Amino acid sequence: MRFPLALTAKIAGHIIKHKVKRTPKFAMVLQLEPLHTCNLTCTGCGRIREYSTNLKDMVPLEKCLAVAQECEAPMVSICGGEPLIYPKIEELVAGLLGQGRVIYICTNGVFMRKKMRDYLAAIYSPAVEPQLKQLVAEQLITEKEAETIRKSDAAAKSKVVIRPTKWMYWNVHVDGLEFTHDLIVEREGVFKECVAAIKMAKICGYQVATNTTVYKETDVQELEDMFRYLSSLEVDGHTISPGYDYDAAKKDMASRLGKDPKEFFLTRDMTRQKFAKIEEWGKLFTIFGTPVYQEFLAGKRELTCTAWAIPTYNVKGWKAPCYLMTDGHYDGYQEMLTKVTWDKYGVVDGKARDPRCEHCMVHCGYDPSGALGTNYQRGDNWKNFAYNFGTKPAPYPASAELVKTALNGVSIGQGHLSEAKAAINSPRAAANGAQAAFSRKEEDAHNHEAHVGSHCGTGDTAERDELLAKIAANKKAE
Ligand code: SF4
Ligand code: SF4
Repeated sequence: MRFPLALTAKIAGHIIKHKVKRTPKFAMVLQLEPLHTCNLTCTGCGRIREYSTNLKDMVPLEKCLAVAQECEAPMVSICGGEPLIYPKIEELVAGLLGQGRVIYICTNGVFMRKKMRDYLAAIYSPAVEPQLKQLVAEQLITEKEAETIRKSDAAAKSKVVIRPTKWMYWNVHVDGLEFTHDLIVEREGVFKECVAAIKMAKICGYQVATNTTVYKETDVQELEDMFRYLSSLEVDGHTISPGYDYDAAKKDMASRLGKDPKEFFLTRDMTRQKFAKIEEWGKLFTIFGTPVYQEFLAGKRELTCTAWAIPTYNVKGWKAPCYLMTDGHYDGYQEMLTKVTWDKYGVVDGKARDPRCEHCMVHCGYDPSGALGTNYQRGDNWKNFAYNFGTKPAPYPASAELVKTALNGVSIGQGHLSEAKAAINSPRAAANGAQAAFSRKEEDAHNHEAHVGSHCGTGDTAERDELLAKIAANKKAE
């Protein structure tokens, strides 16, 4: 099975319950943002700009648990910001598990190994030695860290920790291979850290998923290589979604640069081109999301947005209408369902009801539509059933060649500008065929404006613009 039986049964039961009760709108996945503080400053990320990143501005633990109860979503995606910075993350995970929910911790991966060391310290006994030895041998923890785990005291043993369970996935943000990913997150070494965290998680018995956002400049071949590599690490599943072309960014493009946004942004047509092979990928790799949503991405059918099924809760309340756009915040989920005029949003029969929705095909708007049967076609239920219950694709064979393809980054010094500039000009980058945003020397630097947003962006492109302007100026000066 692609998705564990107990989890599938839970979600199916939730849908059936609401269908029987004829509930018009209900939550499938809660996107819970307990804080917006982050240790990274990814290019174009708007979450860390739209909201306060002050650690004082957090959703209290009790409120987090209460909103999960309130909306009754069977799945909770804990995101942010970086959720592992949330001081009560362990208690939050434990509380949500206690409520019987399926949890995804959406993380940039940087603090995962620390959290897993806490887990090993809490459960340490001689039975853990084989795992510790393997982790040291594979350089995923140091000998010193292993010793600290062995000497764990009563405080470490009584600590609430994030334990492996079939109800929880680490959901690691990976937007490409090393070269691309480190440029997007604007810090060298993050891809390698993610890989180390994924390897350690698998040794410790956790389930691991990855989430990837596709942009206009995302190279499809690189995506396939990324899936092969992640599959060889025995990652349990992948979420993939097209990036969203934020209205603010389009306006900025037209007014400030005098450019036609169509030249730069991922339109619906472009999304369909990028995702033309998604059904093939779904056979080769464990791609999460319904086959109906995959058909939508591949341009084989239309779906209607069901953003209310993946609501977002954060420090300001229930965010409407969706994870991407903010037209208001509400105190209650039911209040939001009642007060928002939902049929103002989405695309119906190819026509955008709101111009900001025009090119949106993101999973948080349309994946639930596939599961909920909002645009039901004969055979859809069977398709979804067969996909879920079908054999899980086998891990891709690991090889030195694959590792070389994945670890295609360069050692390029400190700071965003030097990193990006060195990456652009690196002969090694050119030689190893990295074809990511920022890497194409022959392109006009303005073309790179197309790389907009991130998995949690809102279209604030100021930092990225500044970086790219500096890169362009440097190139001219050389
Ligand atoms: S995209 Fe995610 S990891 Fe990157 S800065 Fe934003 S919140 Fe942090
Ligand atoms: S179509 Fe996209 S942007 Fe528009 S409401 Fe739905 S999820 Fe949000």
